[in-house]
Amino acid sequence: PGRLIGRETQTEDTLSESIRPRTLDEYIGQETLKDNLRVYIKAASARGEPLEHLIFYGPPGLGKTTLANVIANEMGVAIKVTSGPAVERPGDLAALLTNLQEGDVFFIDEIHRLNHAVEEVLYAAMEDFELDIMIGKGPSARSLRLTLPKFTLIGATTRVGLLSAPLRDRFGILNKLEFYTDAELSRIIQRSARLLGVAVDTDSALAIASRSRATPRIANRLIRRIRDWAQVKNQGVITPAVVDAALQALAIDRLGLDPVDRKILTAIIEKFNGGPVGLDTLAAMTNEDALTLEDVYEPYLLQLGFIDRTPRGRICTSAAYAHLGKPQPDSLNV
Ligand code: ADP
Repeated sequence: PGRLIGRETQTEDTLSESIRPRTLDEYIGQETLKDNLRVYIKAASARGEPLEHLIFYGPPGLGKTTLANVIANEMGVAIKVTSGPAVERPGDLAALLTNLQEGDVFFIDEIHRLNHAVEEVLYAAMEDFELDIMIGKGPSARSLRLTLPKFTLIGATTRVGLLSAPLRDRFGILNKLEFYTDAELSRIIQRSARLLGVAVDTDSALAIASRSRATPRIANRLIRRIRDWAQVKNQGVITPAVVDAALQALAIDRLGLDPVDRKILTAIIEKFNGGPVGLDTLAAMTNEDALTLEDVYEPYLLQLGFIDRTPRGRICTSAAYAHLGKPQPDSLNV
């Protein structure tokens, strides 16, 4: 809680509702992906059929959930939302699936975390829109087959590599979400600011963008913090100087790195002489959970080219030494 980096919180979800894009035109960036989606949507609509099942993958906060909602909206259908860990038993999945209407989008976040028994039931539902479930136990158990409405499954995952092969094969295309450019983030920031009723000039928007870890969720979080700061310290006016001051107070540096990022890099440099170091060791050294390190922190550090993944573990690059102002050992040749 209170962290700038990390997953969406429940309260934040409601706060975000007002600024979530509703249409592909409002959804900024991911141009190639949007072009493809426009084609799929148009073709499916013309045939009067539901869209094919889709998967979106990429680091948290890049807009996978938003895109699923946009698609449902563009198709003019409802969306039902769940997540991998929330569907514990095949019966839970059956309850969700039998509640769908023809054409609906069924969105499963963190789809790589579905358990095997649930996945098995999902296969037939995806392929034949049929549901085979066992009811009862022991000698009186019998299997029941239900026909489901034709729906579109949209799965989202931060770990496409963890999807089981049979599940992956049942999706047409795996769609990757890319990190956003500063120019795109700047447009997102100006749009969100307008919807939140705050004025942000171009220079301030760019200053915020360059510290948003190439991620819309972080950009939106920063605007809210900076808005508070401007209100208390500068009569509500956001300027590049206000952005700097607010981010300094939040301990966010010029590239958007927070204390945890710096702790990770410093640990690799100081405790392991630049690496390589294994993920679990790094997690123990920094007091962070290994999954959070890998899903939330590492992708942006890789994107910046500050760390590299080698078969023997993570290493820091010379760019990371330079950013932290640490002297580079002579042996370092990356
Ligand atoms: P994910 O599901 O990938 O973790 P979300 O879809 O929840 O990410 O997006 C996080 C936040 O960022 C949302 O509040 C959304 O409003 C905003 N956002 C994401 N992508 C975009 C985009 N392309 N344009 C505008 N805002 C976006």
